Amino acid sequence: MNVTNETAVLKNYINGDWVDAQSNETLEVPNPATNEVLARVPISSGADVDLAVSAAKTAFETWKNTPVPKRARILYKYHYLLTENHEKLARLIVEENGKAYKEAYGEVQRGIECVEFAAGAPTLMMGESLSNIAEEIDSEMFRYPLGVVGGITPFNFPMMVPLWMFPLAIACGNTFVLKPSERTPLLANELVALFSEAGAPKGVLNIVHGAHDVVNGLLDHEDVKAISFVGSQPVAKYVYERAAANGKRVQALSGAKNHHIVMPDADVAKAVTNIISSAYGSAGQRCMACSAVVVVGDREEFVQALKQKASELVIGNGLDDEVLLTPVIRESHRAKVLGYIEKGVEEGASLLLDGRSAMDELKDGTFLGPTIFDHVEPDMTIAREEIFAPVLSVLRAENLDEALEYLRKSRFGNGATIYSKDAKAIRQFREEADAGMLGVNVGVPATMAFFPFSGWKDSFYGDLHVNGKDGVNFYTRKKMITTRFDY
Ligand code: NAD
Repeated sequence: MNVTNETAVLKNYINGDWVDAQSNETLEVPNPATNEVLARVPISSGADVDLAVSAAKTAFETWKNTPVPKRARILYKYHYLLTENHEKLARLIVEENGKAYKEAYGEVQRGIECVEFAAGAPTLMMGESLSNIAEEIDSEMFRYPLGVVGGITPFNFPMMVPLWMFPLAIACGNTFVLKPSERTPLLANELVALFSEAGAPKGVLNIVHGAHDVVNGLLDHEDVKAISFVGSQPVAKYVYERAAANGKRVQALSGAKNHHIVMPDADVAKAVTNIISSAYGSAGQRCMACSAVVVVGDREEFVQALKQKASELVIGNGLDDEVLLTPVIRESHRAKVLGYIEKGVEEGASLLLDGRSAMDELKDGTFLGPTIFDHVEPDMTIAREEIFAPVLSVLRAENLDEALEYLRKSRFGNGATIYSKDAKAIRQFREEADAGMLGVNVGVPATMAFFPFSGWKDSFYGDLHVNGKDGVNFYTRKKMITTRFDY
């Protein structure tokens, strides 16, 4: 590992300045494909949070009164800068997250679309009115920002997830403190730098790097009015409960276990192509990744084709064009995944493809080859828990009813897909699938910025989802005014 003490320590961005964190604790940020240390991230303290929240609170007083079209204009400029830097941002994502360049490029595009959506703030923030609710009396509804919003984000979408949050929150008139994943802090700094270049006044967007202390600082701070969180299930639940107990508005997007149902009439080649890219793209580290395939009926040819295609995947550094399967984020995560593979074997699932062998060939990064378990039962650990890695479980079901029952049993409900041309089956799936984002012959049915990202069950804690009208409602509060004119 190419580690030196001189590796640059990243700075926080508070009140328009790049500043050192007040604590001396730092963590390495390695490239998961090479283990080369790219930077060190500061593990900031509550005192750093206080500084950022105070700057954001001061900035709010001016920002909330900045005309909405003027706020939106900063987003147009931001859109231009992000587009101009599209390739550079994608490369940075590959370096610190490890995903393939093509996926990183697509992620930048998804992020840019969030800015496009947020730039519609003047329309999105419009209120409602009704004249004559009683004689000579009218009622109107206006939207106002909340104040300082805290955003806490995961490593797996270092661009898209922060952009789910701050552009819309800020366009709605709030100010923002971002706590990005300590595992992907470089891209976050780039996003903040470009936002400042776009003309955001000081204090409107701040960034505090770190881990638990920064998160707790935001959850407990009385001047933080709302929390947007995306991350793993235990942390999402913790964040939701602690922030809500402190009287804050919270949206906490959480873990997932996404089932793909392969019906007897599904086209084998098309279903395999979709499932392979959904399950193994980004090394399976997507909240919308297919992690469980439910094969309906006796479709041995499908399972064999899946195994064949998975075993042909090119594994390596995401900057290499042919590569689809890239490393998982850290050694500690890989160790946890290896534990799940052992558990699967122990609990009696049949290990159809063992990705552990790839680790011997690719020693420098945190690689794991494609892994498939067959004959997985819904109550096995590998079927119930989110593994977040290139490990796929195949379950067998006699019919669609039984397949849908597996979805109902899952504690998670982020996404689900059916592969079929049968209108009746598709309709039954749409009506009965116990998940919030459904795909019909679509491998990753993630919604675009103008729709809510609407996970169900333990995949989401809160009421209003990120993006779409939900996002606008989350970042604004309504004021009603009733006026009598015959006074
Ligand atoms: P994570 O929960 O480890 O970290 C998320 C954030 O929480 C980070 O900023 C981290 O610093 C902070 N954090 C971690 N542990 C904490 C603790 N004990 N106390 C306070 N803060 C803590 O998640 P991750 O590994 O970075 O991201 C992957 C997870 O995110 C997966 O579970 C994935 O399904 C989920 N995810 C969900 C969605 C969705 O839309 N539902 C989208 C993307 C990712």
